[in-house]
This record gives sequence, C-alpha cells and structure tokens, in this order.
Amino acid sequence: MNAENKRMPSKKVHKIARDLALQNGERYHVACILYRQKKPIYIGTNSKKTHPMCLRITKDGSCVACLHAEMSALRFAQEGDTIEVLRFLKCGSVTMAKPCRYCSGLIAQKKLKKVKYTNWEGVWEVAHPDDFIFC
Ligand SMILES: [Zn+2]
Repeated sequence: MNAENKRMPSKKVHKIARDLALQNGERYHVACILYRQKKPIYIGTNSKKTHPMCLRITKDGSCVACLHAEMSALRFAQEGDTIEVLRFLKCGSVTMAKPCRYCSGLIAQKKLKKVKYTNWEGVWEVAHPDDFIFC
C-alpha cells in the first residue's frame, strides 16, 4: 500500500472537508476539494441528493440551488487544477465518491490536471480528466 492508498481522512484538509460535509444537513455528505498548484483553495459540499443542476422550489416559494460538491467547487476551477472528491458516512468513514456523469462532463470542460475520488473501501482512485467523457 503506497501513501496514496491510506484510509481517509489523513490530511488536515480532509478533516476540514469531512466536517463541512457532515454539517451540510443532507442525507449524503460529499466534499470536493479544489487544488491550485497543490494548495487547497476551495472545498465544495453537496447541497442536495438530486439532479446536479436543478433548482428546488421550497414551500415558501423561494428557489434553492441544488449542487453536487463537484459542481460547487468547479465553479472556481481553472485549467490545470486538481480535485479530490470524498463521500463521508455519518460515522466519518469514507465511501464511494465517483463523480456522476453530469459532473464528469464539467470536469472534462474544465481541463483539470487530475481527479481523485474515494472508492467503496475509502481508498483513492485516480482518474485522468480525459477519462471523463462529456455527456
Ligand atoms: Zn455529480
């Protein structure tokens, strides 16, 4: 097992991402960390488990944007940036966080350098952005 395959969260930024994701008030707790030149610059979390780009009309008639964590972070992404996507269970352990087809399309558009996400065992999977096909 190499350094990339440690069970998360190990780094301080992963612990911050876990805390943010677990506080989102939703059933699913996903965080996406955006890195520029190896420095974390933004942590996005999901706002709802739903279609990644929909708006939800609440009972009082207001609209709430429902973003996946990747969509939230990719708003600030530039070419050459890197993202890490993690999904946390309530107990804090990590599980599958592979980007959905909609987020994958945006990942492809943003020309990121590297995409990492956790698998079912809570271990990093690394994907080159070219692996993501625009949908
Ligand atoms: Zn998504």
